[in-house]
Amino acid sequence: MHLEFIDCFVLTRFAPSPTGQLHLGHVYAAKYACDVASKSGGRFLLRFEDIDTTRVREEYYEEIEQDLHWLGIESTGSPLRQSDRLSAYSDALDKLKVMNAVYPCFCTRKEIQQEINSLTNAPHGKESLLYPGICRNLSLAEKAIRLDAGDPHCWRLNSVAIRPIAERLFFTDQLHGKVVVDPDLLGDVVLARKDITTSYHLAVVVDDAYQEITDVTRGEDLLPSTHIHRILQNLLNLPEPRYHHHRLILDTNGKRLAKRDDALSIKNLREQGKSPDEVLAMLA
Ligand code: GLU
Repeated sequence: MHLEFIDCFVLTRFAPSPTGQLHLGHVYAAKYACDVASKSGGRFLLRFEDIDTTRVREEYYEEIEQDLHWLGIESTGSPLRQSDRLSAYSDALDKLKVMNAVYPCFCTRKEIQQEINSLTNAPHGKESLLYPGICRNLSLAEKAIRLDAGDPHCWRLNSVAIRPIAERLFFTDQLHGKVVVDPDLLGDVVLARKDITTSYHLAVVVDDAYQEITDVTRGEDLLPSTHIHRILQNLLNLPEPRYHHHRLILDTNGKRLAKRDDALSIKNLREQGKSPDEVLAMLA
């Protein structure tokens, strides 16, 4: 049903975290999503990725909406807050548990580091070392005892168990072409953190389906995450959106803009007297 809709109806979203001010990089992403929708007479939604309550600050929700409004980037309806959707994420996690696609991991950072140091051939993703699978092989009894005892744990994707499914999958990115899913790219990635019982990956997949997003537009730094998202969509029987991983706005040193780069925050640019058109022109 979802795919039949694509030609006649496009729904995109911009999903910032209210943990800082919007900067030019965010505006590029928001404008991109808005333009993809408006070119096809579709709609554009705003979603707050606010599950990390330790970093979220209340004032940023409003500031982000005000900045977008000031720039003329208007979304439809009231924004979805991921913090309101925790039970949907835990339902999805329960399904993955039943399938044995996830396992509880009780490791501390220190234990993971020690294990990595002791290995001559620690598993390596494209950019960084991967979790070396310590808890993947815990026995059922061991897991049950530790879960019953309430030992702090996160839940990780079992990249070994899901490999036969993952290896058949691919996605087609509108800018990068056909991409074959590689379950080893991020390895046994965390799907539910110790503290918040979900993660970016799980929440975004559940919400893209819930909001019936037809086109996921986001920075190309998130391309590796899409491998995980396709796996989760397949396991949870959720529709596959179209993907557009666009370029990133970089600072003068060629680095990705971060929230701490206040100089290029929209608030700052506005206070310097720049007009919305001047700010949008800076994206080029
Ligand atoms: N919150 C992410 C970001 O600001 C967006 C993630 C997504 O669009 O899936 O980069």
